[in-house]
Amino acid sequence: MNVLVINAGSSSLKYQLLDVDTREVYAKGNCERIGIDGSFIGHEEMGGDKQKLVVELPDHKTAMKYVNEILSKLGKTVDGIGHRVVQGGWYFPESKVVTDETLGWVREVAPLAPLHNYAEADVIEMCRDLYPGIGNVIVADSAFHYSIPERAHRYALPRDVVDKLHIRKYGAHGTSHRFIWRAVDEFTNHTAHKLVSCHLGSGASLCAIEDGKDMDTTMGLTPLDGLIMGTRCGTVDPATVFYLQRVGGYSIDEIDNMMNKQSGLFAVSGVSSDSRDIEDGAAKGDKNCQMALDMFSYRTAQLFCEMAEAMHGVDTMAFSAGIGENSSAMRAGVCRELEWLGVKIDEEKNNVRSGEVRDISAPDSKIRVLIVPTDEEYMIALDVKELLG
Ligand code: ADP
Repeated sequence: MNVLVINAGSSSLKYQLLDVDTREVYAKGNCERIGIDGSFIGHEEMGGDKQKLVVELPDHKTAMKYVNEILSKLGKTVDGIGHRVVQGGWYFPESKVVTDETLGWVREVAPLAPLHNYAEADVIEMCRDLYPGIGNVIVADSAFHYSIPERAHRYALPRDVVDKLHIRKYGAHGTSHRFIWRAVDEFTNHTAHKLVSCHLGSGASLCAIEDGKDMDTTMGLTPLDGLIMGTRCGTVDPATVFYLQRVGGYSIDEIDNMMNKQSGLFAVSGVSSDSRDIEDGAAKGDKNCQMALDMFSYRTAQLFCEMAEAMHGVDTMAFSAGIGENSSAMRAGVCRELEWLGVKIDEEKNNVRSGEVRDISAPDSKIRVLIVPTDEEYMIALDVKELLG
């Protein structure tokens, strides 16, 4: 079954066409800078070179039209379409087939993720027109976290306010954490029971997964909470917002932009949001870069312990996503912080590069340490197959 997976961000639209049975990817790409000057599509086909198509992309619907045109030249059928939706709110504890009703839900919960959900809803609508008769499935990034117990997902704010505005921990990266659990379960031959999944990319979150059930995660009402990320500040005292407004004179929109786009590793290092640049800077003796790396390792280790508490234990940890899969220095930094807990890695294994799931623990480590390349697109395609196949 060929599945087209669509991942619409605030100003981007990623796509991938794959055969879910063989896991063969036929083509993938990203429409970038949608609604911004300098938009283009980066497109790649199996066995081919990367192409850059400079086109005007005023909105997501136009981008989707181009994607349809590009993919139709491949001569492959599209048998189902999976849409990653960032915020499923209270409507998507699991993936659902697109109908007028479920599409309406994506828009209803959009105030919780306005930059993403409206664009995603537009793209779903467009796909229903472009691919008549082909089923569409909504895979919400928050779905996996729906099983988090109330003591972990409830916010200690007045009940009437929480109820009226649907405030709770929704989390994100749920599709990735779900894939990571699946891969760990398979790799360890079902011997992992209490997993802390570490999705460390430019967005980053941890997830406590006990026997496949999500027990807690570090992102909250929105993806701003938890770890320090590329440009997001992660957890800060909430009163910082009042202080920035009252004393700093910043507007709410400016604070939103500051905390989401100008903070995190970018702000601390003063160099870049990309951990590769920061590692280079630190190697050359830049103290701010070193501090950014230290803070990232410290916070990851600290939140690792929070996740362990949610399961009253931990037997396995998995590093994933851009930083988790590629940065041996960051993995070593996090594991050094956790040495007191008995986490030990084999340095040689940690330095090997590979696209496979692998165990990098030292033989006497009390906690198994794995690297798991995540594959959200495949997970989405599996859901499409299950619901439509
Ligand atoms: P997202 O999907 O959230 O945009 P990714 O999972 O692609 O993020 O991760 C992107 C980040 O991964 C980059 O910003 C970079 O910091 C980090 N990264 C990618 N490759 C490497 C590498 N070889 N070494 C260190 N960090 C890397």
